[in-house]
Amino acid sequence: MIASKKETFELLKKHNLIANKKFGQNFLINYETIKKIVSQSEITPNSLVIEIGPGLGALTQELLNISKQVIAIEIDKKMIKVLQENFTNQENLKIINEDFLKIDLNNLIEQYSKYQEVIIISNLPYYITSDILEKIISLKNKKITKIVTMMQKEVGKKLLKKEDKIESYLKVLIDNYCTVNTIMHVSKNDFEPRPKVDSIVLKININNDKYLLDDYFYKIIKECFKGKRKTLLNTLPYDKEKIKEIFKQLDIKETVRIDEITIKQLKDIIERSK
Ligand code: SAM
Repeated sequence: MIASKKETFELLKKHNLIANKKFGQNFLINYETIKKIVSQSEITPNSLVIEIGPGLGALTQELLNISKQVIAIEIDKKMIKVLQENFTNQENLKIINEDFLKIDLNNLIEQYSKYQEVIIISNLPYYITSDILEKIISLKNKKITKIVTMMQKEVGKKLLKKEDKIESYLKVLIDNYCTVNTIMHVSKNDFEPRPKVDSIVLKININNDKYLLDDYFYKIIKECFKGKRKTLLNTLPYDKEKIKEIFKQLDIKETVRIDEITIKQLKDIIERSK
């Protein structure tokens, strides 16, 4: 059993490794937590499971027990060596040594086309949580139905909260395409090394048929967040005088920034600018 304090220490010692902070390595050492994450993922024989950041393989080991096929994508070469040794001859596991943010996910999923759905499961490296979720959701790959993931509790709480204001690009994607539920809260003591923050596991169901907003709208939001410190007036790709006029009609200040308005207001501005 990899998910224990003893085995984690032994594996690290055997391979002469220490958890690498640069890659956000905090290994799960509580098997009960892993069991719950996997059982709540509702994996069926039709599911292709993609695990981001398998590390030493604690979660991978449980996933392999119930999944027809697991693809584990890990950035750290040193972990790849451990995984290959831990899971020799495991036919339903494909280990890929790559940065998840750089991988061509559509192409990968296409290679396993016999599976009807894709479930992405991860104890995410916290330093890139938003980037990873943004990448998956904005891909709009209809086969990806669900993301089950551990993240920092504070980040999770924001994703669970319904917000009127446009808080972030990720939040707009989540609020419009997904249904988010809490699977469990996880104590710092369930990890080695022990992180500074508490964690939460969320189930993010992607409602692929519910694309409420068109692509153009997302492009605009993404552009506006690139210049988040700038005013909306300076970021929107329209004639400034026209925008000033629209702001006046909608009673919006000229100094307003993207995270100070609602989706409805942005929709109105775009509608009137066309
Ligand atoms: N799944 C293991 C567990 O639960 O014990 C390890 C989780 S640890 C929090 C995050 C893992 O993600 C590490 O193994 C780290 O090397 C890996 N990782 C970090 N950045 C990554 C990236 N961009 N692409 C793929 N894996 C990454």
